[in-house]
Parts: sequence; C-alpha cells; structure tokens
Amino acid sequence: MIRFNVPPFTGKEMDYIRQAVENQKICGDGEFTRKCSEWIEKKTGTSKCLLTTSCTHATELAALLAQVGPGDEIIMPSFTFVSTADAFVLRGAVPVFVDIRPDTMNIDETLIEAAITEKTKAIVPVHYAGVGCEMDAIMDIARRHKLLVIEDAAQGIMAYYKGKALGAIGDFGCFSFHETKNYSMGEGGALLIQHEKDIEDAEIFREKGTDRSKYFRGQVDKYRWQNYGSSYLPSELNAAYLYAQLEMADAINDERIRIWNQYRNELEGLAGTGKIQLPYVPDYCVQNGHMFYIKTADQEERAALIDFLSENDILAVFHYVPLHSAPAGLKFGRFHGEDRYTTKESERLLRLPMYYGLKEEQVSYISGKVKEFYGFN
Ligand SMILES: *Cc1c(COP(=O)(O)O)cnc(C)c1O
Repeated sequence: MIRFNVPPFTGKEMDYIRQAVENQKICGDGEFTRKCSEWIEKKTGTSKCLLTTSCTHATELAALLAQVGPGDEIIMPSFTFVSTADAFVLRGAVPVFVDIRPDTMNIDETLIEAAITEKTKAIVPVHYAGVGCEMDAIMDIARRHKLLVIEDAAQGIMAYYKGKALGAIGDFGCFSFHETKNYSMGEGGALLIQHEKDIEDAEIFREKGTDRSKYFRGQVDKYRWQNYGSSYLPSELNAAYLYAQLEMADAINDERIRIWNQYRNELEGLAGTGKIQLPYVPDYCVQNGHMFYIKTADQEERAALIDFLSENDILAVFHYVPLHSAPAGLKFGRFHGEDRYTTKESERLLRLPMYYGLKEEQVSYISGKVKEFYGFN
C-alpha cells in the first residue's frame, strides 16, 4: 500500500532526542527550542517566534494577544481545518465565513470588505497548500479598517508571497509541525509575532500567565503570576525531533517540489483534456510542495477514483467538509454572501500521496493509475 503520508524522518532525530535527555532538560524552552525558534526567525524574517504545542495553540495565543472577546467577528474561509475557527470560538467570537477563489482555494480577497461590520476584529487568511493568499489586498483592507491579520500558515512554512515568507506578513502567523506537515515534531507549532510590543504578553500567556521567560533571561529576580494564561510550550523532546528536520529544510523542500513537479508533468496531458484540474500557483507565489491535489468532475467521480486507487494499493484522501455546514459551524458561525465555490470545489478535491521519501517510480505508478481511471494514456 502506498500511504498517503509518512511523517518526515531525516536520521538525526534520535541523536538530538538523546542529547536532550542527556542534558537533563526535557521540559520546554531549552537548547533545541531556542535553536528551532532562531531558525524560524532567521528564515522568515519575523521579530519573534515562539514554539508551541500545536498550530491550534499558536492561533489561540494569537486570539489572546488580539484581545478577541465575546461577540467579536473574525473573517475567514469556510474551506479550512477546524482549528482556524476553534481558536476564536473559544474566546466567544463569531467566525464569519466568506467564499474562496476556485483557482487557489484561498479566501476570495474581493469578498472580504463587504463582510466587515463594526464587530469585526481580525481577518484570518489560510494559505491553502502552501500557496499564498492575496496578501497585498488583505493587508490593505486590514489597515484601512484597523483590523488585525492572523495568518493560518499551518501549511505555509518555506513558502513565499512576493518574496515575503508566509506567516511573517500579517500581525501574527501560525505554523504547524503536526506529523502531516512538511516538518514535524509529532504535535507542535509556532507563533510568529511581527510587533515587538506583543512579545512580552505572548511569553506570559504561553507560560501559564507568568513572567518565567524574563526570569530565565535574568531580567527579574523571581517569576510571578502576571496575567491569565495557559501552557503552550512544547517539550524539548519534541523540539529536538523538529530541529533535525529544520537543519535539512532545503533538502526536504527540494524533494517535495520534485515530487510535486513530477505529478504535474505526468498529469498535464490528462488535465489538457479537461477531465481533471491541476493546482494553480500564481507566478509571484513560491509554494512548498505541501500538497498535490487534483479536482475531479464531482463528488461521485471522486468517490469512484478513491475506490479505484485503493484497489490499486494507493491511499488518496479528501478534505475539508466546509466549516459553515458542519454542526459547530452552524452553531457558532455564519456565512456571509453566497457559497459559490466553497462547497462545490471542496467536493471535487482529491489529495494524492505526498511525503518526504515518496519515490519517483511510486509517483509514476500513482499518476499512471489516475490516467488509467480516466482511460487516458
Ligand atoms: C494542520 C492545520 C492546522 C492545525 O495544526 P495543528 O498543529 O494540528 O494544531 C490548522 N490549520 C490548517 C490550515 C492546517 O492545515
């Protein structure tokens, strides 16, 4: 069976985990956490990166820093993972969903302004498949209406929009290092903070409401309870695993891009017949090979293709059930405007196996089976 995802492993992870154990420092904010954060700060050009226990938690931290409260409205796409909405719903806010663009599956920036009310607090663009949203337009709307921008860049590490790193364009950015992402620590994530003024509060929220981070830097002689907060820092064991991968980030990225390009080349002819559609990447966006998807004619055809691939030992999957039509979406959120593309396009989308280590002949085999399904050779 060709699996859909295999968590990335480069070889040095076990050594680094052993090192963390031997350092007798396995709680958070040790040497490996520092190395990972510094790597991300340097790579993305962000003022401050805080490693977190997940991207969901990074987004919760951003919601706390944005002082999101009951009744506030947060504009986001409905075609996204639940965490994008969850982090704000936990604070009593209302997700206001707007439609996506059918080409990139990202939020349609031209529909955002009409969804703004006096309760709107933030815009949350999701960079689907590591392809940047129209950030110039989104930042412009946000500045004119004094809204914050919190990027869900869970899939966006090592990807760029007009030369700027995804996650480091808005006021806050959130990365995921879940095992299904390009770089992993099992469960984990990072919060990217653009403004110096937010750093101290972020450290306090992340460390149970205390100024422990300042204490460790020798800036205060004891640490005390300063504010509400929670525990959002990952263990050094997880950070050690991640650091082994960040050190090899380029090699992992190159391989994913190679796989992505191979899929595209092998399926281009079939796409030319109009039977399937391939992903679109604007020429000012650099993507990171996070995902390769195709679009089938409709949901029935997609189900038949999944079955056919599965009979041929290939695991292909789809996502997302749009949030606005899910039980919690109906309860907590609302859709602004017309759902022209969110539901329709989500029903056509199928993700093919994609992971570091997927072999050239496997990509050929999978592409061949997709072509065989459509009777195309
Ligand atoms: C994976 C993902 C998340 C959640 O990441 P976790 O680290 O599992 O919390 C959020 N948003 C998007 C778009 C994702 O793909």
